[in-house]
Amino acid sequence: MVKIKFQQEPGTAPETVMPSDSILMYLEKYIIVPAEEKCGYGIYSKAREIPIFFVSEKTINQKGLAIADGISDDLHKLRDVVDEDRFWKLEEALVDRLDPIGLYFPKGVLQDQGPEIWVSYEKICNQHPIYQDSKYATALTLVHELGHAIMDAPTSGLHCLKTWVEEPLANMIALCYLASIGPSRTNENSRMDFVTDFVQSQPEKYALGLNLFRASRLFDWEAWKNAKWLLCFKIDALLDWMEYVKGNLANVDVRCLEDLFREIVRQPIEFNQTLLQQAEKLYE
Ligand SMILES: [Zn+2]
Repeated sequence: MVKIKFQQEPGTAPETVMPSDSILMYLEKYIIVPAEEKCGYGIYSKAREIPIFFVSEKTINQKGLAIADGISDDLHKLRDVVDEDRFWKLEEALVDRLDPIGLYFPKGVLQDQGPEIWVSYEKICNQHPIYQDSKYATALTLVHELGHAIMDAPTSGLHCLKTWVEEPLANMIALCYLASIGPSRTNENSRMDFVTDFVQSQPEKYALGLNLFRASRLFDWEAWKNAKWLLCFKIDALLDWMEYVKGNLANVDVRCLEDLFREIVRQPIEFNQTLLQQAEKLYE
């Protein structure tokens, strides 16, 4: 009996948007329940609490476009608070070209209700026609979105900068979670092989999740969660992290990355006039 209340997007045909009952059972019984026992992240309780909708490819693509539109406001604000040369150097990376297969919506962000998780199994199957591959990609995507849910906290700062830390950490959580249950009983190592290749092929900010996973004890997602409220004072630290990732993804020095991460999550912070002025501009 599945306790997670998986739901179908209203108005869609179940045979196109919903995974089969055996896949839903697999996600709960063979992935989330045993992984939660090993990791204790609180993902299973989030999964039973937050509505998880399986939505069509069309719906998730439309939402992706709407989110990308909202990013331009962020960019305007950022241009006022950072050095101009640096802004233009990084501008391209700050623009989100969202092509989502899953989304996490915190309460009140982009919609009044929430939180909510959307996963497009239809889109995953179109991208991964082999049954095992689409099953593993769905497991990774679902846990990735639940990773956002466990890191959800009152936040400040700019979406376009935050995602460079939040997305790799959500992938790190998902990879740690799937790895914790050991090899697949029917396919030996194929599940982890598939999901590591999958993450590696994603855009940079997601692919970084694999580096963090390989050094995961150094990157504490709870520290990130606790630092979210002060991110409006961490613009430079967030830009330093992003610039390093952009330039070094193929050759990440984990120590260096760890130092940059510590700078982002370090508390308390010394306030000065410049920082306060920056924060004020962001909230204008
Ligand atoms: Zn994400």
